[in-house]
Amino acid sequence: MSTPIQHPQTDVVVLGLGHMGGPIAAELTKAGYNVVGIEKGPFWDFRTDWRQDNKDDEWGIAVERKFDHPLYISTFTIRNNMNQFALPVRRYTKNIQYHALGHGVGGVGVHYGGGLGRFSPWSYQPVTMTKAKYGDAGYNTILSNVKGGTPDIEDWPVTYDDMVPYYNQWEQAIGVVGTNQCPFIPNAKFPMPPHPSTPYAEIFKTAVESLGYTPFPSVSALISGAYTNQYGVSRNSCVYCGWCGGLCNYPCEVGAKTSSHVSTIPYALTTAAGKGNFDMRLNSYVFRINTDSSGKATGVEYYDSAGQVHAQPAKVVFNGIWGFNLIRLMLLSGIGNPYDPVKHTGSLGRGLTEGYYPSTSSASVQLSVGANAYCSGNAAGGGYNIMDLNEVNPKYNHSSDLSFMGGVSLGFGSYIGSGPNTFTTQLPSRTNFGSTWKASLKDSKIPAKITATLSGTGPNLPLLEHYADLDPNYTDIYGDPGARITIDWDANTYRVSNYLINGSTLITDILAKMGDPTTIKKNTVQELSSHVDWWGHHMRGGARTGANKNTSVFNKYMQCWTAENVFAAGEICDTFGDNLTAGTHVAGPMAYLAAEGIKMYLASPGPLVS
Ligand SMILES: Cc1cc2nc3c(=O)[nH]c(=O)nc-3n(C[C@H](O)[C@H](O)[C@H](O)COP(=O)(O)OP(=O)(O)OC[C@H]3O[C@@H](n4cnc5c(N)ncnc54)[C@H](O)[C@@H]3O)c2cc1C
Ligand code: SF4
Repeated sequence: MSTPIQHPQTDVVVLGLGHMGGPIAAELTKAGYNVVGIEKGPFWDFRTDWRQDNKDDEWGIAVERKFDHPLYISTFTIRNNMNQFALPVRRYTKNIQYHALGHGVGGVGVHYGGGLGRFSPWSYQPVTMTKAKYGDAGYNTILSNVKGGTPDIEDWPVTYDDMVPYYNQWEQAIGVVGTNQCPFIPNAKFPMPPHPSTPYAEIFKTAVESLGYTPFPSVSALISGAYTNQYGVSRNSCVYCGWCGGLCNYPCEVGAKTSSHVSTIPYALTTAAGKGNFDMRLNSYVFRINTDSSGKATGVEYYDSAGQVHAQPAKVVFNGIWGFNLIRLMLLSGIGNPYDPVKHTGSLGRGLTEGYYPSTSSASVQLSVGANAYCSGNAAGGGYNIMDLNEVNPKYNHSSDLSFMGGVSLGFGSYIGSGPNTFTTQLPSRTNFGSTWKASLKDSKIPAKITATLSGTGPNLPLLEHYADLDPNYTDIYGDPGARITIDWDANTYRVSNYLINGSTLITDILAKMGDPTTIKKNTVQELSSHVDWWGHHMRGGARTGANKNTSVFNKYMQCWTAENVFAAGEICDTFGDNLTAGTHVAGPMAYLAAEGIKMYLASPGPLVS
């Protein structure tokens, strides 16, 4: 290894400039601190990189993933249980191709779906609130029914009410689109109005209202009008071009799709122009957080694009490199207590859940929507949701079936649109190409009748058998061990669907109001009938924030229990991940909480929670 190029000490070094790193860079530069941001990818500029000549490359973007993390630099391995040999992910093949990892300022957020939604109070306190609803005995019955492993469930160290101020800051920064109509998500007021609804979303809305539920427009990060955030960063409205509709593969050429590249980093860069206190290092791959004999971080080391090693000393390190990357860097650096899956001791890697879901039971009905059902739109708007079929609603009570916990945020009616994702969902074939293929696309994209399918998946539960660690066989391009994840679905998420579809009439009642009841069909999926063979882009829980330092990695300020000047944020820090929202909306407030913790720490160094 070459002799590291030494840089002068900075106050805060931010690792990864995605959705999580952005708020730290903005808040700490705003507070006058010197900040260095280190990002392994480039700065994609929507004004130049995503114009017509580059953007309209469906194959390059959706299949070859040219804006995403190159797997030859580093990948990870996956297996379903600790007796299996974990295999490396080498290509973004279907169906994991659209779960590609982030690369560049903005991270995955440059092309994600942008479907958002806060967690409910129940999602933060699943143990306490489930006990309050079904009693201690009921909760124990639920735990005794868990299948697929041993439950390892904890409440977050914070409540929903504690998080409201941080939600507000995050929502202002990224310009969250929606309303405050959901009665079960109190004190929410988003800065941007909802997107126009689709005709079939209106059918859903009318149906659920007639059943006494409270629909609210789906929450989105693709802004519905011109917007200026609290940092003075202005952005263009979504123009409903449909490019990013359907699947979430495509960057937005007008900058309406929000991540740090259009919301927080531009502010830090502007501040830097005035005060010189933000230094952005691109194409720079962090491989260690260095520590002193007390375990405190002293700074980081990274490779630049030429493979030259740099050393960046810092008073505080913020780890925002996402998911199992975040865990891996800490394991490689000897920070935190690694989880032992045999003794069930340690916390780093523990409590990992797949914040996604397998195919579960569903029900459908035929629906007539007229001649043009909004062929275009964006990736995350146009629909309605209800939270009435969720534990947070006292009237949603499944005491008759205590084989599961959790409920759903039931949504329907988003824009069907999008040409580009055709390459990942409706490929031409030898028998269906050219004008025949185009005609079949027209039928599916501009339908007069549709099959409306409703389904809901509950949370995947943290189990002692699911974790992340370092792989003993595979390394990154520089020779460091890759991350290995050991995970599979648990029965809970299937059971929530089965209860809604088969154990009750909750979903078929809605379908009967929406369309012709004689056309209702059920598709029942047996629990644990499939295995995880891909990672979701919502890995959660392997680096939990918690009140118990033996089972969590970070305290409630997102400060590491074992290294007081290391902070982090991301879905991987969720104490309990609920499947009622995609998850970035929940992670962003954690970054604001961490920013507050870092400011407190720099003012008075030491543990913020004893
Ligand atoms: C296709 C897709 C669709 C999605 N849709 C939604 C959605 O609709 N709603 C939702 O809420 N969420 C969605 N997500 C998830 C969402 O994109 C992420 O939760 C969010 O972007 C994560 O932000 P982050 O800052 O934690 O991580 P990232 O966005 O991954 O940013 C981390 C950054 O760290 C950098 N980095 C990593 N390792 C290193 C290293 N060693 N050194 C230096 N830099 C490093 C990366 O290059 C990256 O830029 C989607 C994700 C994908 C892939
Ligand atoms: S639909 Fe809206 S958010 Fe999506 S690419 Fe077009 S302008 Fe951007």
